[in-house]
Amino acid sequence: MKAIAVIPKKQNSVHLVEMEKPKLDEIKDGRGVLVEVLRVGACGTDREINNGEYGVAPEGFDFLVLGHENFGRVVEGGENVKELQKGDFVVATVRRPRGSSIYDKIGEQDFTTDDKYYERGISRIHGYMAEFYVESADFLIKIPPAIAEIAVLLEPLSIIEKGLKQAGDIQERLKIWHPKTAAVLGTGNVGLLTVMALRLRGYEVHGFGKQARQGYLNAELCEAIGATYDSTDDLSIADSTKNYGEYDLIFEATGYSPIIFDAMQSLNENGILILASVTGGKRTTDGVPSDVINQKFVLGNRAMVGTVNANREHFEMGVKDLALCEAMYAGWLARMLTHKVEGLENYAQVFEILNNAGEYKAIKAYFEVNKI
Ligand SMILES: [Zn+2]
Repeated sequence: MKAIAVIPKKQNSVHLVEMEKPKLDEIKDGRGVLVEVLRVGACGTDREINNGEYGVAPEGFDFLVLGHENFGRVVEGGENVKELQKGDFVVATVRRPRGSSIYDKIGEQDFTTDDKYYERGISRIHGYMAEFYVESADFLIKIPPAIAEIAVLLEPLSIIEKGLKQAGDIQERLKIWHPKTAAVLGTGNVGLLTVMALRLRGYEVHGFGKQARQGYLNAELCEAIGATYDSTDDLSIADSTKNYGEYDLIFEATGYSPIIFDAMQSLNENGILILASVTGGKRTTDGVPSDVINQKFVLGNRAMVGTVNANREHFEMGVKDLALCEAMYAGWLARMLTHKVEGLENYAQVFEILNNAGEYKAIKAYFEVNKI
C-alpha cells in the first residue's frame, strides 16, 4: 500500500513509500481493527515535522509515516471487537499509553509526565497518511454517517474539547459560574472550531486574528455563527474590553506567545484563560506589566491553564458538537474544508498549500484517500 513519510529531523524529506498492508494480528487479544483510510487532514504539525523541527521514527524504521487528523471505514475486526462492524465510520485517537508515567498506566496518557511521546504520525508510531491502518478498537471512535463529510475535523476539535473540559473542571472551584462572554485568540482552523464550540455552549464570542476583516473567509465564518471578528492590528485584546467587557473565558490559539500577557489583563473576575499554542521558539517579552497582572489574578481569583492533546472522552464530546453544529448551523463546518487533494501521490500539492496557507486562503487542506 501507499503511504506518505518523512525522514525525521531532515528538512523537506516528505516522500511516497510502499509498505505492506497492516494485519489484524499486529494487535493482541483479538482487539485489532483494519481501517481503510478515507480522509486525512494536514496541519502545521505536519508542516513542522517536514521542516525537520521534530518527529521521531518508530523503532526499526528510518522513516515516519505522517498524518494524525484521520477518518476511515472499518474493513474487518478481530474476534473480540463487538462494538464496531464492517462498514462503520471511525476516527482514531492519536496518543498511546506506552510511557512509564502513572498517567499512562491509568489511560490518561494526554497528561503523561514522560518526555517521550507515543503519537501516531508524530512520534514513534506511524500515522494515518496511508491507504490502511490497524488499531485496537480501544482507540477508535465511531462516527455517525450523517457527519461523515466533516468528521476529518474531529481530531483538531478534540484538542479544544479537552481545553474546555479542563476549564469546566477547574471552574467547579466556584460554586456558581455562569460565563457569558468569551474571546478566541487566533482564527485558523483551531480558533474557528473553538468559536464554534463556544457558540454551541451559548457564549457571546469574540474572535481575533491578525488578518484584516475585508475578504477574509475566516472572519466571515465567525460572523456566520454569531461571533464577532476583529483584527488585532486595529484592536488589541486589552482595548477590546472597552467594547465587549472583560471576558469570562479566553482561549489562546495564535502561536504568538506575547499575546498571552494581553489576554491575562482582559480576563473578568473569576475568569479562566486557556493556553493551547505550542510555541517552540525562544521569544522573550519586554515591558510586561507584571504588577498589574499579578494583582488582577490574585484579587480577582482568575485562573490560567495549559492544555495539550486529547483522550477518548474528548473525541466523544467532539462527535456530539460536530452533530449539534450541523443541526444548528448546517453546512458551516464544510466551509472550513477549503482544499481537497485527491490521492496520496499528490502530497506535494498538500505541502505547497500548507507552506503558503495565506496565499491559498486555506483553512483546512486534506487528502481524499478514498471516496466516502
Ligand atoms: Zn493537526
